Amino acid sequence: MRLPLVRVTVLALLLGTAGCTTTRPSLPATPPAPHSVVLISIDGLPASALGRGNTPVLDALARDGVRAEWMNPSYPVLTFPNHFTLVTGLRPDRHGIIHNSMRDDAVGGFKVADKTAGADARWWQGEPIWNTAEKAGLRTAIWAWPGNAAPIEGLRPTRWVPYSPEISSADRADQVAAWMTEPATTRPRLAALYFERVDNVGHDQGPEAPETHAAIREVDAAVGRLVQALDAHGLRASTDVVVVSDHGMAPVRPDQYIAIEDMATIEQAEAVSTGQVIGFNPRAGHEAATYQRLLGRHAHYTCWRKQDLPARWHYGTHPRIPAIVCQFDEGWNGLPAAQLARATTEHLNRGSHGYDNAFPSMRAVFVAAGPSFRHGMTLPAFDNVDVYPLLARLLGVTPARNDGSSDVFTPVLTPRTDTAH
Ligand code: AMP
Ligand code: ZN
Ligand code: ZN
Repeated sequence: MRLPLVRVTVLALLLGTAGCTTTRPSLPATPPAPHSVVLISIDGLPASALGRGNTPVLDALARDGVRAEWMNPSYPVLTFPNHFTLVTGLRPDRHGIIHNSMRDDAVGGFKVADKTAGADARWWQGEPIWNTAEKAGLRTAIWAWPGNAAPIEGLRPTRWVPYSPEISSADRADQVAAWMTEPATTRPRLAALYFERVDNVGHDQGPEAPETHAAIREVDAAVGRLVQALDAHGLRASTDVVVVSDHGMAPVRPDQYIAIEDMATIEQAEAVSTGQVIGFNPRAGHEAATYQRLLGRHAHYTCWRKQDLPARWHYGTHPRIPAIVCQFDEGWNGLPAAQLARATTEHLNRGSHGYDNAFPSMRAVFVAAGPSFRHGMTLPAFDNVDVYPLLARLLGVTPARNDGSSDVFTPVLTPRTDTAH
């Protein structure tokens, strides 16, 4: 039976004051009260979106707990690589989700929209926090986080919901609230929740469009429903809520597109991905011409051999990364000529990410509140590889090998996390 924290403390005090003249074995340390963690991702929410009137719920969480000035996304600044980094603490170069679109000689092709590929565990080469927790005997429930549909290491979350864009932001928040307010015997110790709405509208309309601001308010309100449900059940004091985004969003003008075939011809090289980070594999017999044509600086993009990419991106060793990587300048995109020809200016995106992770526009959000967090503190920027070891520390489980550290959070954590790893 679990004793309420207050009773355990009183008991410890009573025992501690009794019999002080006799020697007795020291009491075991009081274990931290079992509590839960909810991880929420708001895809494409820029760090600069906070505190501007559209995020009253997140701003209140930050006042009550902790926020980062911003969080640095990993390279490449795309949804799947960064979501898997957030839950593994590994850089994309190490966890294998090196792009939203990729190829692997042994596994085949991967695209975000391809459900079969997403559910194939061979793509996902890291230990997500839900596996770390389940291995330690903690129940997890994961709502549509990239990777949750694959039996990674042969394991699955206790409960998982596949990506379901037809379910409204409010309904998915209510679903997770229902899990978190179950009796302690079935309640998950870790839940995760994913919202794509801000990213979708941000691409379509641009980061500063009224429609994007409305989408931010909608998702903020959905987070509010979950927080309110925790409040109503008296669970705020035993639930850490951690809100992150994977990246920000930069404005894109409709005339800032380049046809991929104008970079390298189809005969010269295969473009494995499109967008802002374009991977090319030269075709047999065309290697020298392709390298000569692509490598180096061009108007609006720069290309490197994978082994020569800037070190600060920690990217270029994974076999899935194509031989040549071209990075577009902020606000520019590469698309197949046919797609460009079909698109009227109305159909082209007004917002994009996938740019150099040093750009302020790419900065991500980190806000957290709950029993593990001190009140009203702001952390300097950190890399998103640090989130996985933080989650492990909050849950009191041993993290798998990773590229981050929870040390950056030590100044903003309450003593209850000291006994955790
Ligand atoms: P991107 O903006 O290209 O990095 O991709 C992000 C988009 O992928 C989101 O806005 C969602 O619409 C979509 N998405 C997110 N998760 C999934 C998933 N598990 N399966 C399919 N599509 C997804
Ligand atoms: Zn994203
Ligand atoms: Zn996006």
